[in-house]
Amino acid sequence: MLKGSCLCGGISFTVSGDVPGPSICHCGQCRKQSGHVWSSSYAPVEQIKIAGQGLKWFRASDTAKRGFCGTCGSFLFWKQDDEDTMSFAMGALDGDTGLRLSKHIYTRDKGDYYEIADDAPKAS
Ligand SMILES: [Zn+2]
Ligand SMILES: [Zn+2]
Repeated sequence: MLKGSCLCGGISFTVSGDVPGPSICHCGQCRKQSGHVWSSSYAPVEQIKIAGQGLKWFRASDTAKRGFCGTCGSFLFWKQDDEDTMSFAMGALDGDTGLRLSKHIYTRDKGDYYEIADDAPKAS
């Protein structure tokens, strides 16, 4: 069971079951919303339990929305409309996760101020 929360603690969540190794997304939307890159894993929606107050959703595209804390701004969730899974932020998790990075995605959108220096596969 993974446990996470936003920075102010107003929203917490748990993720049950096995989840895939996280990805790091370099797309422009994730970079804008997180301040750099966004690392996430995902699980079926019914395996993610959200508690607390203040979760807001921003519809950043016609096909997906982004969940964040309306108080502290932590970017916690990403949900594609036609999928029954939801992504959750690795940075929001507390304690060790036991997971390893699986890939980089949207690397064509990455900023020019850093290099991707690990061996995880890269997808454009
Ligand atoms: Zn918060
Ligand atoms: Zn992204």
